Amino acid sequence: MAHKWVYLFTEGNAQMRDLLGGKGAGVAEMTQAGLPVSQGFTITTEACNAYYASNKQFPDGMWEQAMEALAVVEAQTGKGFGDGANPLLVSVRSGAKFSMPGMMDTVLNLGLNPETLQGIIAQTDNERFAFDAYRRFIQMFGKIVLDITAEKFERRMDALKARVGAASDTDLTAEHLQELVTDFKAVVAAETGQPFPDDPLDQLRLSIGAVFSSWMGRRAVAYRENEGIPHDLGTAVNVQTMVFGNMGWDSGTGVAFTRNPLTGERVLYGEYLQNAQGEDVVAGIRTPKPIAQLRDDMPEVFAQFQQYAEMLEQHYRDMQDLEFTIERGKLYMLQTRSGKRSAAAAVRIAVEMVREGIIDRHEALARVEPEQIDLLLHPFIDPDARPTLTHIGRGLNAAPGAAVGRAVFDADRAEAAGRRGEKVILVRPETNPDDVHGLIHAQGVLTARGGATSHAAVVARGLGKPCVAGWEALRIDLEARTFTVDGLSVSEGDLISIDGGTGEVFLGEAPLISPEKLSDDLQELLAWADDAQRLQVWANADYPSDAAKAREFGAKGIGLCRTEHMFFQADRLPVVRQMILNAVGAVADEADGHTAGEHYRQFHEALAKLEEVQTDDFAGILRVMHGLPVVIRLLDPPMHEFLPRYEELLVQVARAEALGKPDTDAERLLKEVEEMREANPMLGLRGCRLGIRFPHMYQMQVRAIMRATAIVNGEGLVVKPEIMIPLVGHLNELRLLKELLLKEAGQKQQELGTRIAIKFGTMIEVPRAALTADEIAEDAEFFSFGTNDLTQTTFAISRDDAEGKFLLEYVDRGILPKNPFQVLDRKGVGKLMRLAVQAGRDTRPDLEVGVCGEHGGDPESIEYANLLNLNYVSCSPYRVPVARIAAAQAALAQGLARQTV
Ligand code: ADP
Ligand code: MG
Ligand code: MG
Repeated sequence: MAHKWVYLFTEGNAQMRDLLGGKGAGVAEMTQAGLPVSQGFTITTEACNAYYASNKQFPDGMWEQAMEALAVVEAQTGKGFGDGANPLLVSVRSGAKFSMPGMMDTVLNLGLNPETLQGIIAQTDNERFAFDAYRRFIQMFGKIVLDITAEKFERRMDALKARVGAASDTDLTAEHLQELVTDFKAVVAAETGQPFPDDPLDQLRLSIGAVFSSWMGRRAVAYRENEGIPHDLGTAVNVQTMVFGNMGWDSGTGVAFTRNPLTGERVLYGEYLQNAQGEDVVAGIRTPKPIAQLRDDMPEVFAQFQQYAEMLEQHYRDMQDLEFTIERGKLYMLQTRSGKRSAAAAVRIAVEMVREGIIDRHEALARVEPEQIDLLLHPFIDPDARPTLTHIGRGLNAAPGAAVGRAVFDADRAEAAGRRGEKVILVRPETNPDDVHGLIHAQGVLTARGGATSHAAVVARGLGKPCVAGWEALRIDLEARTFTVDGLSVSEGDLISIDGGTGEVFLGEAPLISPEKLSDDLQELLAWADDAQRLQVWANADYPSDAAKAREFGAKGIGLCRTEHMFFQADRLPVVRQMILNAVGAVADEADGHTAGEHYRQFHEALAKLEEVQTDDFAGILRVMHGLPVVIRLLDPPMHEFLPRYEELLVQVARAEALGKPDTDAERLLKEVEEMREANPMLGLRGCRLGIRFPHMYQMQVRAIMRATAIVNGEGLVVKPEIMIPLVGHLNELRLLKELLLKEAGQKQQELGTRIAIKFGTMIEVPRAALTADEIAEDAEFFSFGTNDLTQTTFAISRDDAEGKFLLEYVDRGILPKNPFQVLDRKGVGKLMRLAVQAGRDTRPDLEVGVCGEHGGDPESIEYANLLNLNYVSCSPYRVPVARIAAAQAALAQGLARQTV
């Protein structure tokens, strides 16, 4: 038997989406359910693929099967395609498995020609309607199938309306429309050099070919590439009997959602237009009426529609997006599909559908996109105000949320202004660690360079602040404190607004709407997520305020407290510098046995000061997180990050010399900074190597942790500090430090007269550590994958260097499938992790393992962490709700979610 390329609506169903496309499966399913659907048939997606396989020829038998199906439809309707007395008109609708922009638009009223037109006139006794349908058909067919620019037709129509004084298309008379038909045909003849095809079968054949061709059109291909939709799905073609919404004021057409797609509220939401056809509602030709108005205009039709809407929602168990047409008081359903919805609506609908018994909790969790949740946690620009704003450009949408503030061009001034309670946006070519204090006190950050994982973006996301990065058109003059873009100049102090969710930048103050807190619905959904998930979600937090946010958002612990971030605060930086600049000398002094040396004195003076502030910092975080674990990582970054930049000092010294007023302080500092310079700081003196080289610093931090613990314990709170050593590559590094630091901790406890249980563990962020995890686990009570560094060290890619230069190009060209700093590379980095987890747990079965890199907030990476059976992922506080949903979805996908319903 010949291959089946064509299915009548009566032969299909909702399960046949792959073959019939979403639209075809939908009309078939509605037909099966007994809803009023004008009949037709669907040519399969397989036929589309076969068309491409055979050099754009319809596959054998397809056309014949379409003709047979057409004959059935003729019998069903009692009309004839091309029959001058009783003509059948159809629409040709494209429909892939996924609703997809870029595919061919629908052609309506196909089958009209001078002969069938007379039949329509005779049957309807409505010349105006017939000519309106005809001119629409020529217009649509011309534009969509024959590729004539829409404007060519629109211009004629506008000219006619102007000439006869018609305000709206419904004011045009039959004579006017008849004139337009003649006009439009002339346009087609002029543009294509051929007369408009009058044979309905030619019209049909050309339209089907055009739908197939649109599958490989530029727009469609680009869309699929962007969305990761395979190119071999193909599109189906639906040929469907026309029903007419433009037969008069008892006719109409509309679209409606079964629930409000913006808020999720359970009410019919949509619009309709009387005496209109097809896309008129969305095309903005006339202002449509709210769907509720239909209740007054046509109560019976409304009641019926409401009933169908309810039924379809129950049937598909999801909010539906419906299209309908009313022909002389009779309702027809033209389309049903799952409706797109805002983040807020997604959450509300999922939760309410559980309450209504339509879906269970696990299904509700699967219905919400983790990334959507992110949008619910940040302020956004009032959508009503958007049209009134002065848009000045767009960079990369690097951290979500919107912010308003005065432009400020350096971190110190941003901090100062922020402390005075002023709202500022930090504008920089790019940022680096010594801009963090400015970022903390700014509302948001705007940079000219760097991508979505640049320093500015990462820090901003961590702080929950919006960031627009990599705005290439931005020209910043730091000296003049201005930026220009396309000839427009903005000076320090001018108000600007940024939208980190879209990357847009505006001049002046955009009105913002702030989500107050997690909605009750979201809280409930997140609680279900926690019930379902296997791995916990912890947070990376460096300050008590971060930790409080994390806890509010449901973090079950702090997986990474980066102690150095406390050092970057402006009032501490001088002390930190004092410590660093004297560290080498102090160690030398000590080795020589003369502990009265100046370096030694300065070093320990600084340490003592830092011990006080760190004790306060730790106490603050432990207090907020009482009852939950807090992993504190000892000092990690290379020392030069705390010092003034070498190049800047060099300029300062040279400039002073040129002016004949040498700056001796700067010269000394320059020498010291020079001594600390490393060719490759990322691989140099940092992490545990610092702790071994300058043990006093780590000892100081451990003392501060002990004191902080004792303080908070003294307040009657249970705290669970864990000490984490960074950048270990060899067991001996860890062993040496563990011995030293446990001794220090023991002494401090004795002094304090308390006993404190501490866990001692390490980061796994060097391949050698992963490869020797069995050994490392002898001394480490927990592992935390520092996936940022582990990715750098596994790829031998320095992220700061790579992202600005070749990495994004790698991704663009498909050399790397994704940016490995955003989405964990499972095959390489992930393999090391897998090895490390297995080896570590062989040595120590109860080894606690987490992820504290940025990947901890990325849904795809969380899925992998779940597969590796990790204990937790740790991410920035604002990602916690996202990660909770992602963790639940990972468990669900693995079929291991705990069933609680
Ligand atoms: P889209 O994929 O853009 O939604 P559709 O195929 O749904 O395209 O068609 C666009 C519009 O054309 C719909 O709103 C629908 O009202 C109208 N339409 C399509 N087919 C018919 C038909 N057979 N009778 C009446 N109107 C139709
Ligand atoms: Mg549609
Ligand atoms: Mg690291």
